[in-house]
Amino acid sequence: MTNISIGENKLRNDMVSVCRRMNVSGLNQGTAGNLSVRLDSERCLITPSGIQYDGMAPDDLAVLSRDGRWSGPQRPSTEWRFHRDILAARPDASAVLHTHSRHATAIACLEQDLPAFHYMIAVAGGDSIRCAPYDTFGTQALSNGALVALEGRKACLLAHHGMIVLESTPDRALALAIEVEALCAIYLLARKAGRLKCLGKAEMATVVNLFATYGTPDFPDSELVQVPAAKTRNPKTTGRRATNNSSSGL
Ligand SMILES: [Zn+2]
Repeated sequence: MTNISIGENKLRNDMVSVCRRMNVSGLNQGTAGNLSVRLDSERCLITPSGIQYDGMAPDDLAVLSRDGRWSGPQRPSTEWRFHRDILAARPDASAVLHTHSRHATAIACLEQDLPAFHYMIAVAGGDSIRCAPYDTFGTQALSNGALVALEGRKACLLAHHGMIVLESTPDRALALAIEVEALCAIYLLARKAGRLKCLGKAEMATVVNLFATYGTPDFPDSELVQVPAAKTRNPKTTGRRATNNSSSGL
């Protein structure tokens, strides 16, 4: 790889790793998934069109500019427009992942938003995961619809198509996509089992607020008090004692 910075090299390797994990996790269907990562204010790295991820190398990724110019051994994904537009419109995102994962796509085929049937819906940033209207794959109209559905959200469905997630890193985008796919599977199960009930707007607002600090030291819990860690015992001493005790017991 020539004329590529260390930072870009790492991003390329991270993208290949995430794409392969999309396959392993079952999220990817054939060659339908795609991933982009912001390089700078004008350019992103994006997966090529119609490539099998198992055989994809870091050099196979294309560099795409906002004006549609690209470089690389293979043409960018046909969905480059919504990758470009989301990265341009959402400074909070540096990675965009798209997949036709089974359960998310099943709900997208109903042209339905995913409601607040489970508190984890808030992981996408609000009290629903919206479904963008159908338009032909690869078109500007599809991208425009996705941008609207993603307002205030980190995930959306695409009617009769699949889902999109955006996050700060490729790893986080994959984790979010797996979460959304799991929620979609549970939603379909729950609907089949009976009449679905949803959480109220006030409770979802509380959860969205909690998620803002989830996984950080700022997460509010006044009853949880951090204390100094206990000293670990020297394993050599522990082992000798055990041997001694064993001998005296005989
Ligand atoms: Zn697609």
